[in-house]
Amino acid sequence: MKKIHIILLAALCIVAIGCKQAEKKTSMNYRPLGNTGLMVSEISIGCGGFEKIDSAASLEMMTMALDSGMNYIDLYDANPKTRSNIGYALQGRRDEMIIQGHIGCIFKDGQHCRTRDVEEAKQGFEDMLARLNTDHIEVGMIHIADSHEEWEELEGSPFLEYVFQLKKEGKIQHIGISSHNAEVALRAAKSGWIEVIMFSMNLAFDRLRGGAIPWEKGAMDNLQAGIDPVRVELYDYCATHNIAITVMKTLGGGGKLLDTKTSPLGVAYTPEQCIAYCLAKPCVSTCILGIDNLDELKADLHWLHATDEEKDYTTVSKQEQAKADGDCTYCNHCSPCSMGIPIAKVNELLDKAELEGLTPELQAQYDALPHHAGECTHCGACLSRCPFEVDIPSKMDKAKDVFGK
Ligand code: SF4
Ligand code: SF4
Repeated sequence: MKKIHIILLAALCIVAIGCKQAEKKTSMNYRPLGNTGLMVSEISIGCGGFEKIDSAASLEMMTMALDSGMNYIDLYDANPKTRSNIGYALQGRRDEMIIQGHIGCIFKDGQHCRTRDVEEAKQGFEDMLARLNTDHIEVGMIHIADSHEEWEELEGSPFLEYVFQLKKEGKIQHIGISSHNAEVALRAAKSGWIEVIMFSMNLAFDRLRGGAIPWEKGAMDNLQAGIDPVRVELYDYCATHNIAITVMKTLGGGGKLLDTKTSPLGVAYTPEQCIAYCLAKPCVSTCILGIDNLDELKADLHWLHATDEEKDYTTVSKQEQAKADGDCTYCNHCSPCSMGIPIAKVNELLDKAELEGLTPELQAQYDALPHHAGECTHCGACLSRCPFEVDIPSKMDKAKDVFGK
């Protein structure tokens, strides 16, 4: 094809994309996803909510997200129901959504597991493609490397070879990694082969020090004034080298920053303030928001119409007091439980029962769980995986008392 034809074709594509956005009448802003050539909406959708709803509700939620201009989704969840719901909801609109899908997160014995076993990862990845009804995803996200050991274990491993192979075959277009540790994320950024980093960034976590991760013993008790120098280096390095950061835990993990009772800083922020804080950093491409239902999605979409005053996160910072917490955010990072207990769900039902009293509905939901808190052996296997230092065995004891098993 002659050069002039190629230029004309490219111009037509840009016009077509522009028309598509104009048709949606959205006021969403888009940012480059690092060096990938992709443009992504500045707020985007987390997948957790799709596990809790059916396919019809998934379609409704996805339609609203797409029609509002969201074009990026994180799919860490390997639960077949989540993947199938998202695949169903994207039918006919797959080309409008950029998928960041995790490699090395599988669903085993009813629970999420992180794996570096090639066969397990392969099965998990192929299952994701099949359920999404697609032959590729845009970003293949290596699921969680949170320690230096985990990063070193990855380098040169058969698992990494598999990831490179996926890129070569076009099954993933770009390679990313998720981490909660700024030092590890910085090593990943400097590797030369990572294009996207999913990183936990918010007003509270940025006050951790020395690459600490939020669930390290005492980390959240030791929040300092000002941003961690390691994080400053990470954010600067990513900005200058065009490595995209897609933000997780924008609202503090389970929305903790939104309530004075749960905010690690002792004061409540609004979603708009939390989002504005992250988007103020040039390295950030998008803030991924955990959305459980249409009402939450509508609330998050207020971002599109928020005033500068509503976005000003500095107004509350004067009242901040460092404050640790140990509440569950239902993030599921603690799984798998050695007894198969769905820890996050048990904690969620327990918190509701303690807040609102034990209703027959809560008891019925608890009874329907495959395993119950009373089966906890206090083995402690889950403790080191909890980002928020929750005393899980004590919570299990409490749940057993409240729900009777
Ligand atoms: S301490 Fe209890 S909840 Fe945690 S892994 Fe062991 S059995 Fe499961
Ligand atoms: S106990 Fe910890 S890891 Fe488990 S769901 Fe709660 S906050 Fe997440």
